[in-house]
Amino acid sequence: MDYLFLLAYLCIMSAGLHIYNTLSRKKELFVPLNPPFVGLYVCGPTVYDEVHLGNMRQFTSFDVVYRYLSHLGFKVRYVRNITDVGHLTDDGDQGEDKIEKKARANQIEPMEIVQKYTNGFHHIAKLFNLIEPNIEPTATGHIIEQIEMVKRILANGYAYEVNGSVYFDVKRYMQDHKYGELSGRKIDEQLEQTREELEGGSEKKYFADFGIWKAAAPETIMKWPSPWGEGVPGWHLECSVMSTKYLGQEFDIHGGGMDLKFPHHECEIAQSVGADGKAPVRYWMHGNMLTVNGEKMSKSKGNSFLPMELFSGSHPMLSKGFSPMVVRFFMLQTHYSSTLDFSNEALEASEKGFQRLMNAYTNVWKLSASADGNPVLLSEIQKYSQACEEHMNDDFNTPKTIASLFELAAIVNKVSNGLEKIHEEALTVLQQTMKTYIEKVLGLQPEANQDSQTLDKAMDLIIEIRKQARQNKDWATSDQIRDELAAAGIQIKDTKDGTSWSLV
Ligand code: ZN
Repeated sequence: MDYLFLLAYLCIMSAGLHIYNTLSRKKELFVPLNPPFVGLYVCGPTVYDEVHLGNMRQFTSFDVVYRYLSHLGFKVRYVRNITDVGHLTDDGDQGEDKIEKKARANQIEPMEIVQKYTNGFHHIAKLFNLIEPNIEPTATGHIIEQIEMVKRILANGYAYEVNGSVYFDVKRYMQDHKYGELSGRKIDEQLEQTREELEGGSEKKYFADFGIWKAAAPETIMKWPSPWGEGVPGWHLECSVMSTKYLGQEFDIHGGGMDLKFPHHECEIAQSVGADGKAPVRYWMHGNMLTVNGEKMSKSKGNSFLPMELFSGSHPMLSKGFSPMVVRFFMLQTHYSSTLDFSNEALEASEKGFQRLMNAYTNVWKLSASADGNPVLLSEIQKYSQACEEHMNDDFNTPKTIASLFELAAIVNKVSNGLEKIHEEALTVLQQTMKTYIEKVLGLQPEANQDSQTLDKAMDLIIEIRKQARQNKDWATSDQIRDELAAAGIQIKDTKDGTSWSLV
């Protein structure tokens, strides 16, 4: 363990990063198990259909977690899996494999479904500017390891075999360990509700038991040989196997949507403890859900969104399309642990806010420093810069960070409009803070990068032509250029240091 790094980290980050740990239900100071290394595992998509917006919100939240940890100087190993087998249509033990079902309906190979929707997911992830994980393991690529884990659980007495399937023995496990701690569910409370299900001829001994290996029907395409016959791994098993394989039996952060807390993550804990005797995760993080106009997003209500429908504006609930960066900004304006409500009006408001922030960000690089800059500006800029850090340290509070960035944008506008003068040191801090938090930490990019570079070049040319006109005392041309640019939303300003321009 690198204690020096840890010490330096705790000193520099005076308040330190605090994370709300779902397991302890408290905000805790983040202390990595093996600094400067941090292990981060996030449950990835099941690639049987186009990734929906709710999933993208989770991945965007954890993208910011990854970015901020990296910004703090940690060496993060970020693992986000692809579920390409084992996820059943009922999210439990009774349904059909989602991918296999889709493949059968389309009369194609399950792996074609997997390839198609993995490609689609990667495409959307790029549009949202998500940083690629360091490892993106697949369930089908880790069948041997999953069989080995089932064997260890069986050997420890926490599982039993029935007709070629292996079930986790929750009752037996509860004699030695706690079950339900993460989700706060009490097994007894559920008993009455689910007893009926069990009477339907289940192979399980106890209603709370869950499949860790499922015997495959003869017509199943995706199946593998095992000591218990041909079958497929249970859905919860893959994450236990892949997280611990790449991050160690105990690792720092495990993230996912709130809907995965139970049973998926609860089962992951039980499997790891059952197989290796160790609770795998130090900090559990859960992102909240998306709603649309205050209602839960669902296909049957017709209010479920695909990212592409949002970008193109083809969804009937939208007045127009919204760019991926606007949607990313919109998502980050709400804390990851709160419900995020989608509506056309909220998106339109976000779009305006995003443009305001990005205009200021474009303009901050065009400001020139003055020797007689206002000395108060430096301390003001430093105050908001520190606020950005404090907000991010407070369980990745992106909405408050964005609010502080708007304070900095207001300073940019004042200087840009000639209402304030800024000296060099203050300008440097202002530029660096905006770059760090807008681009690096929040992952927001100025849109149409190509366009803005072209605009820069065109403006250089126009300003040069105007300069020549002024040297020739051709005031009519000079004024015409200034006025017509102003009408197009571009303001130019002449100072003794030269001519600058900004978007209004
Ligand atoms: Zn998972």
